Amino acid sequence: MLSNSSAHAERPTVLVVDDQPTNVQALAKLLKDEYRVQVATSGSKALDIANQEQPPDLILLDIEMPEMDGYEVCRALKSDSRTNRIPVIFVTARDAVEDEELGFRLGAVDYVSKPFHPAIVRARVRNHMRLKIKTDLLEKLAMLDGLTGIPNRRYLNERMNHEWQRAIRESRPLSLVMMDIDYFKPYNDQYGHGAGDDCLGKVAKALQGAITRPADLVARYGGEEFSALLPETDTTGALHVATRFQEAIAALQLPHAYSSVSSFITLSIGVVTLIPTVDTGAAQKLFDLADEALYESKNHGRNRITVKNICAQDEDVAQS
Ligand code: GH3
Ligand code: MG
Ligand code: MG
Ligand code: MG
Repeated sequence: MLSNSSAHAERPTVLVVDDQPTNVQALAKLLKDEYRVQVATSGSKALDIANQEQPPDLILLDIEMPEMDGYEVCRALKSDSRTNRIPVIFVTARDAVEDEELGFRLGAVDYVSKPFHPAIVRARVRNHMRLKIKTDLLEKLAMLDGLTGIPNRRYLNERMNHEWQRAIRESRPLSLVMMDIDYFKPYNDQYGHGAGDDCLGKVAKALQGAITRPADLVARYGGEEFSALLPETDTTGALHVATRFQEAIAALQLPHAYSSVSSFITLSIGVVTLIPTVDTGAAQKLFDLADEALYESKNHGRNRITVKNICAQDEDVAQS
């Protein structure tokens, strides 16, 4: 997710897993000057820590442990999308080629053999940590829009697919708001492309400032179009959020002398809510319906909100 640790304002975290407390202590001591160190003396405890809100950046994992061995822990980590990107380095007294091979096959990035050499452990951890931090940063950048700094369409699509599936599983409503700046071509033509870019940045910031739930997402859909994905939100809630968007943009009072609908920048908005089922089709359906609603707002004079309520028996269109 975009909001997690990847930017590394704090020191990166290493989770040390070993059933022998002396090993844990020795490794923790080695690493504590450079990293935040978390420790676990069992496989299940390690998985608990790895599944916390802020997962560790890297895991040093002992293989031979009672109950759940390191291979099993690694398998569990790699099969869960929340933890499968955490690099795992095995720390083990086993030195047979087959053991090493199995570890790599399970998705480990490296091996450290016991008894370990402090300088080697530090060097291997440092190398893999560097790579992890870079990968996190690139992944984060790939999900952000370069001009406005808010999430881009790629990230929106990713989250949409995820929320769509969840809404099907839980039979919960999912809402999408599509917004398009009115008369933005004349704005660019008259005020210049630079002013247009500034305007997009301000609009993006205002829209993002208008959402309050952590699960809600505002993204730049493209050009002068923005979208908001609102999980677990019914028609009334979605209209409420769309109204807040409209008010937030009005409050900016960005002058637009070449708009035929207002002397300030305004938005046309389309809102759609539905409870998807396996028969509804793909998530694209929600985009198509929200686009239709947006198109109606444009056709009915712009600077307005059109709501399509697909949850009701009959499709119902309302404007405000
Ligand atoms: P409508 O009210 O029907 O939405 O008309 P419009 O002029 O807003 O719509 P149109 O789709 O014709 O024009 C969109 C304009 O948005 C085209 C382009 O000048 C501007 N635009 C799109 N992306 C950017 C961008 O990244 N920066 C700037 N400055 N302008 C952009
Ligand atoms: Mg052990
Ligand atoms: Mg447009
Ligand atoms: Mg437009």
